[in-house]
Amino acid sequence: MSAAKSSTYDHLIKLLLIGDSGVGKSCLLMRFSDDSFTPSFITTIGIGKRIKLQIWDTAGQERFRTITTAYYRGAMGILLAYDVTDERSFNNVRNWVRNIEQNATQGVDLILVGNKCDMTDKKVISKEQGQELAEELGIKFLETSAKANLNVDEAFFTLARDIKKRLIDNQA
Ligand code: GDP
Repeated sequence: MSAAKSSTYDHLIKLLLIGDSGVGKSCLLMRFSDDSFTPSFITTIGIGKRIKLQIWDTAGQERFRTITTAYYRGAMGILLAYDVTDERSFNNVRNWVRNIEQNATQGVDLILVGNKCDMTDKKVISKEQGQELAEELGIKFLETSAKANLNVDEAFFTLARDIKKRLIDNQA
């Protein structure tokens, strides 16, 4: 699935959603696609440039633990998600990072996202654990809830802004 954010644009940014099956990748994308297309998107990210985000969901490929090189091709940013109620998905983050390092373009921007933070009673991975891992990996971190619409736009926009800084501002 991909979500186009504007019809005409100066730059196209390809983002990927990665993480274990069931962590909420499709829901994060659906939430972002539904709510966030406002003119402020362009001013926040673009500043004089219109940027289109093309976001790719794995469509279930990750169940086989093999994300193909083709899926990674051209990706400028990756939103790597785990589920705060599922320890296994958290422990697998390092495996996904390895997979990314082996397949994605070098220097691709990453953000780590601990999704389902609305499920406070079932939570097994603390915010601090997420932060620590992200720090160790040298990437940004946010807890999100696709269900409660917490930090979803922030996660995608943070990633998009970092990419814009790295790729587009540096070209100018
Ligand atoms: P994917 O396999 O990573 O794409 O995961 P899905 O988006 O299909 O979500 C898997 C399940 O988790 C579904 O039953 C969703 O309703 C549920 N889910 C996704 N995001 C959230 C969230 O933020 N909070 C809660 N409570 N459930 C969620």
